[in-house]
Amino acid sequence: MKENKKNFECGSEGALSGVITRCLRLDSKAFAQYWAFAKAAPEDDRRLWLDMAADEKSHVDFWRKCQKMSLEGHLPDIFDDCAEIIGRLDGVLDRVPDKPGAGGYDRHKAMRMALDFESHLLMPEFFEMFKLFSDGHDGIVENYSSHLEKLVRAVNDSPDFADLRFFTENVMALYRKSMDLAMKSIEDPLTSLLNRRGFWQTAMPVLNLAAREGKGLALMIADIDHFKRINDDLGHPEGDRIIAGLAGIIKTSARKYDVVCRFGGEEFIVFTMVNSLDDAFAVCERIRSAIASSLKTAGGRPVTASFGAKFAKAPVVSNPAPFINELILEADKNLYAAKKSGRNRTVVS
Ligand code: GH3
Ligand code: MG
Ligand code: MG
Repeated sequence: MKENKKNFECGSEGALSGVITRCLRLDSKAFAQYWAFAKAAPEDDRRLWLDMAADEKSHVDFWRKCQKMSLEGHLPDIFDDCAEIIGRLDGVLDRVPDKPGAGGYDRHKAMRMALDFESHLLMPEFFEMFKLFSDGHDGIVENYSSHLEKLVRAVNDSPDFADLRFFTENVMALYRKSMDLAMKSIEDPLTSLLNRRGFWQTAMPVLNLAAREGKGLALMIADIDHFKRINDDLGHPEGDRIIAGLAGIIKTSARKYDVVCRFGGEEFIVFTMVNSLDDAFAVCERIRSAIASSLKTAGGRPVTASFGAKFAKAPVVSNPAPFINELILEADKNLYAAKKSGRNRTVVS
């Protein structure tokens, strides 16, 4: 719903491309820095910095590709709060020099700077981007891991870096933990539904399956009516209880293989295989009336939700994200129409 964007401001292209722009800037700076180290370093260290620079070159290529896809609306919007991620990336960008410094090569200083450059890799968001933006052929996860391992190995192999060893051991352990967490954190804690990230991870294979079987798909967005009033009149905890209650109703009304997700504050998506537009409408109406008849505030006031859905035949595509983005956009327009025409209703197309 257009009026409703503030719940997931991050969902706007601008915000995600802001994250990508910073990743690109960071890795471009790192490339220039490692290249400068390679030129200035004695024979013993040159190989390491040449390899590090070569890695950065492929990272820069990856982010350039992401930037292009983002501008074309071809990337999934996976983050709830891009501004926060941008803030942390800006912090790293501020810490590292804009241009490689002139002057002599100090291998200890160089190593410390490299570790500073690579510290951003501890942000779990990176793995989420790798996982969901990569085409699967660019080997980007392996590339980043071996990139970091090169530095850690160099530190371990030389007594000159003994004082950095404790640090790099922890960096590597955190890096692995972070990757693990990112792969697992797909659940919304309040409702136990999939979160936005989980939606993308699950929806893409569903589209592929539907395409293989020549099936139709419906993407439905549900948004609680006048939810701000519930928060304002009854308080946030009661609002949370309503969100969790509504999630429970959607979950029990959906089929086992439907993708059910909390997409934003009080917005939910159900992504499901159906045969026709009529079926899509029927599913929405079943959930909508279950909510209207059973969801109540603590004081007994009924809570309703509006539904917008888009039905389409599943296409065979190599990158499902643009098609799903389009479905979300169309379903959102229908949700807006449902709100405009009185709420507690379903609009499909
Ligand atoms: P409409 O019928 O047009 O959808 O009206 P609305 O009041 O629901 O409008 P809107 O979607 O703009 O308001 C959503 C509100 O949901 C605003 C935000 O403060 C609140 N909200 C978002 N996330 C949460 C949450 O996790 N818990 C609670 N309690 N409130 C939330
Ligand atoms: Mg909303
Ligand atoms: Mg609402």
